Amino acid sequence: MSILVTGGAGYVGSHTCKALAAAGLEPVTYDNLSTGHRWAVRWGPLVVGDLADRALLRKTIREHNVEAVVHFAASSLVGESVKDPAKYFRNNLVNTLSLLETMVETDVNRLVFSSTCAVYGAPLTETLDESHPRSPVNPYGESKLAIESACRWFGEAYGLRWLALRYFNAAGADPDGQIGEAHACETHLIPLTLEAVINPASKISIFGTDYPTPDGTAIRDYIHVADLADAHLLAMEKTAEADTGLSVNLGTGQGHSVREVISMVESVTGRPPRQVDAPRRPGDPAKLVAAAERARTYLGWTPQRSELRAIAETAWNWRQKQAHDAHRDAVAV
Ligand code: UDP
Repeated sequence: MSILVTGGAGYVGSHTCKALAAAGLEPVTYDNLSTGHRWAVRWGPLVVGDLADRALLRKTIREHNVEAVVHFAASSLVGESVKDPAKYFRNNLVNTLSLLETMVETDVNRLVFSSTCAVYGAPLTETLDESHPRSPVNPYGESKLAIESACRWFGEAYGLRWLALRYFNAAGADPDGQIGEAHACETHLIPLTLEAVINPASKISIFGTDYPTPDGTAIRDYIHVADLADAHLLAMEKTAEADTGLSVNLGTGQGHSVREVISMVESVTGRPPRQVDAPRRPGDPAKLVAAAERARTYLGWTPQRSELRAIAETAWNWRQKQAHDAHRDAVAV
């Protein structure tokens, strides 16, 4: 059975391709490689294309007899979305509409959509469950919320069977070391902290030390990317049932502060990351932690590898492998 994975060359997308292949399915990656990597596509064919190209999308779906879609392709940087909302509404909302309409045309009615906890905006409760009010505070979250709404109405009108997975903080790398996080412009805490261990010219800036949290730094719910991948597989299987049309949080229910993450990186690498206190990053709430009950009861999903230590260890292994490969390639030139 072939599954179209849009954005399958990206971070969470490539880990999901690995999980789909391990379950005996064929992931067909559809990716324009604007941020994804050709090397990350290892478990099925790659079609280099844009979601706006409906003819290519149609051809890909038909040629591979695609039966379901897992949709990751999106722009996903909160800060950039505030500066360039047009890009976010075009790449995320308009291009997803192109995908959804093509699915209707080609009679593919199963969709797992990569959504985000950014749909909630500023938290009103200690942990966020799926019924928490949706009031995004940036165009990224707004574009994802609009897509969830489109899915709902496509479900009503055209029988789309969909599930939206609202991730908290994706982190870590493939436990086998084959793939991992590799953003051209890295903004995330764990890879930047590892950089501050490795690179003498680099420091991790702690964005905000005056939050109303026990150590003054912001708290997030870090979830291992391989656990996220498993959740996509379960969700994709679930779309075969009639009972869909739901948004599901993917988180652990446990929060960790920025300082806790930095300490864990120090413990795992054996070296203290160079660090500096910095002002809060605009738009960052003090605490974002999932209430993840629905994922457990509905999907039957429980995170297996999301202890902070396992996250930091796999990210560190991956970072060392990248450094090793870069050195090898430089020597070969
Ligand atoms: N963070 C930080 N320094 C950095 C990057 C991130 O202190 O260089 C903090 C950020 O303010 C947030 C947490 O780390 O509280 C996680 O941020 P990240 O960018 O990794 O993920 P996000 O929560 O934005 O999806």
